[in-house]
Amino acid sequence: MAAPKSLEQRLSDEIDARREDLIQLTGDLIRIPTLNPPGENYREICEFLRTRLAGAGFEIEMVRAYGTPGDSEKYPRWNVIARREGKHAGECVHFNSHIDVVDVGKGWTVDPFGGELKDGKVYGRGACDMKGGLAASIVAAEAFIAVCPDFAGAIEISGTADEESGGFGGVAYLAEKGFFAPERVQHVIIPEPLNKDRICLGHRGVWWAEIETYGEIAHGSMPFLGDCAVRHMGAVLEEMEDSLFPALALKRTDMPVVPEGAKQSTLNINSIHGGQAEGDADFTGLPSPCVPDSCRMIIDRRFLIEENIDDVQAEVMEVLNKVAGRRDKFRYDVTELHRVLPTMTEKSAPIVQTVARAIAETMGKDAQYVVSPGTYDQKHIDRIGKLKNCIAYGPGILDLAHKPDEYVGVDDMLDSAKVMGRALIELLASPKKAA
Ligand SMILES: [Zn+2]
Repeated sequence: MAAPKSLEQRLSDEIDARREDLIQLTGDLIRIPTLNPPGENYREICEFLRTRLAGAGFEIEMVRAYGTPGDSEKYPRWNVIARREGKHAGECVHFNSHIDVVDVGKGWTVDPFGGELKDGKVYGRGACDMKGGLAASIVAAEAFIAVCPDFAGAIEISGTADEESGGFGGVAYLAEKGFFAPERVQHVIIPEPLNKDRICLGHRGVWWAEIETYGEIAHGSMPFLGDCAVRHMGAVLEEMEDSLFPALALKRTDMPVVPEGAKQSTLNINSIHGGQAEGDADFTGLPSPCVPDSCRMIIDRRFLIEENIDDVQAEVMEVLNKVAGRRDKFRYDVTELHRVLPTMTEKSAPIVQTVARAIAETMGKDAQYVVSPGTYDQKHIDRIGKLKNCIAYGPGILDLAHKPDEYVGVDDMLDSAKVMGRALIELLASPKKAA
């Protein structure tokens, strides 16, 4: 007589048996185009998830983030939160996925909203970022419940709005309403596409600012009668090239940021606008001769956990002060547009340790720890929700996100679903874990 199968083996078999369902679910999610901006079909996808998860015994809440950026009657910011209680007291494991996808862009060879299966991959906008991860977490939770119906604690699955545009109408709003309070949720996994053997601990910080230089308008044939704001901005750029960029390149972090180039401080000049606005594409006239009296530049500074945001700002002010010291009539303003502090979950945190063991057991290799160069919704769970026990872990190749012919591999989704399911076994299968 064969030995009875372990819970882990039964979970793995259960997930393999749901392969077709996983493909169908991923395709169905892709076929609801949730483009952001402007925030299309959020209600539709939340209704779809409500039906699916209510069928699996989850209690469903639909929450509209009234009054958040972009929320309107035409484009309401809907979120769905599903919770399934176990049979015993215990901890809650929450899977959070964003439902929005970015613009399609050019260069596709397949229908971006077709959800087509080809050579073991499901294609479409959002396939890897992150409808594949959402589908994998749903199948993982459903398979876990099937093999372990008497589990302890609770499982939550949320589909949230607007991650691609800052998450204010999604996770930030829910965190403010207490959905990520440590007394309600103890572990969070965000199935962003970080690759199935990598645990993402957090992200670098962000400081976006607009620098405006001022001049004086005059006739373009007599620029000496005015003062050119664009030349002032040119001096700012020159000073940045001479002193700021080299200094940033020397700042290295101990955070395991990928890719390698993002292991240092970075600054992107996002845009510069100076002088007259450009005419419409069909305007055939000439510009009028004027000296520009304003030039605006948006900078996107990404900083490290070793850095302090006050110092990040002070460095930019120093550039401007240096320029002011050598240019007559140099006047400027700096306006902060956006700030996010760096966040990094400790490697010793329970969710990190649990998922690392699940990766090792499922894939037979050690988990890799990474930090994301850009931010994602973990920032709100950490800062607003005050919940530190949070990681990003999910299937898909990060480099494919936002690109044409985006896809997610079916085997990768199955493997990561097994990792998520094993994590549920470790955290919830036994009532011993009761909080
Ligand atoms: Zn994403």
